[in-house]
Amino acid sequence: MPLHTTEAIVIGGHNLGEADRIIPFFTRKLGKVRAVARGARRVRSRYGGTLELFTLGQLVFFEWPNRTLHKINEFSVIEPFAGLKADLGRLGRGAYLVELAGASVEEGEPNEEIFLLLRDALTLLVLHDAPRLVRSFEIRLLRIVGYLLELYRCLVCRSVLEHGAASAISPTRGGLVCVRCLPRAPDNMPISVESLGFLRSALHGGLEQSLASPLPHPHTTNLQEVLKVCITHFFGKRLRSVAFLTLVE
Ligand SMILES: [Zn+2]
Repeated sequence: MPLHTTEAIVIGGHNLGEADRIIPFFTRKLGKVRAVARGARRVRSRYGGTLELFTLGQLVFFEWPNRTLHKINEFSVIEPFAGLKADLGRLGRGAYLVELAGASVEEGEPNEEIFLLLRDALTLLVLHDAPRLVRSFEIRLLRIVGYLLELYRCLVCRSVLEHGAASAISPTRGGLVCVRCLPRAPDNMPISVESLGFLRSALHGGLEQSLASPLPHPHTTNLQEVLKVCITHFFGKRLRSVAFLTLVE
C-alpha cells in the first residue's frame, strides 16, 4: 500500500457512517484525491477540526490500489484560511473557487498549476474580497485547462480588433467576434471595452496584478455573465456554486 505525502487543500467533505468523514482534497502532486478520515467526528478525534473546508495542510495518505477512496494517515495544517469563513461573501467566493478547481480535473489527474492558482487565490481572498479576483481566477483556470479565449482577433473574419471598438464574445467559437460578424455567431455576448481590457491584463499578469486593475460596475457584472457562460459551455454542466455566487455578488 503506497504512502504519499503532499501539500493539499480541503475542497469539501461529507459524513460516512457513525464517526468518519470523506474528505476530497486538491493536492499539489496528485491532483484531486478523496480519502477517509477515520473517527473524525469523535470528540477526541486526532484531526480535531483540522479537516475544515479551505484548509491547506501537509497530507499523508495510504493509497488503496485500484480504488478511488483512500485513507488519511495524517494531516498537519499549514494555513487554515479561517478568514474565509468570517463572512458570507468570502465563504461564497471561496466555495466557488474550490468547486471550480475540483471540477477542472479528473480524480488522480495531477495539475500543480491549478493547485498553485487555487492556493494563491484563497490567500488573496482573505485580504481582498473582490469579484475581480474571482474573474481573474476563472480566466486563468480556463487557460490552464485548455480553453484559451481569443481576445485580440475576430474569430470569424480574423481581423485584429481596433482599440476601443465594440465587440462580443462567442463561447462556442472561443473568443472575440467583431461587430460586423455578429450575425455569424448567434451565441455572441457583448463585452465592454473595460471588461476586455481586464481579461487581457488578467491573462498576462498574475492574480495580484489583476486586483490593481480597476473594473467598475457594471463591467464587473458584464464580465461575470460572459465568463459564466464560457465556463458552463466548457465544463458542460452548471456548477452548483455558480448560482450561489450570483446571490452573494
Ligand atoms: Zn469579424
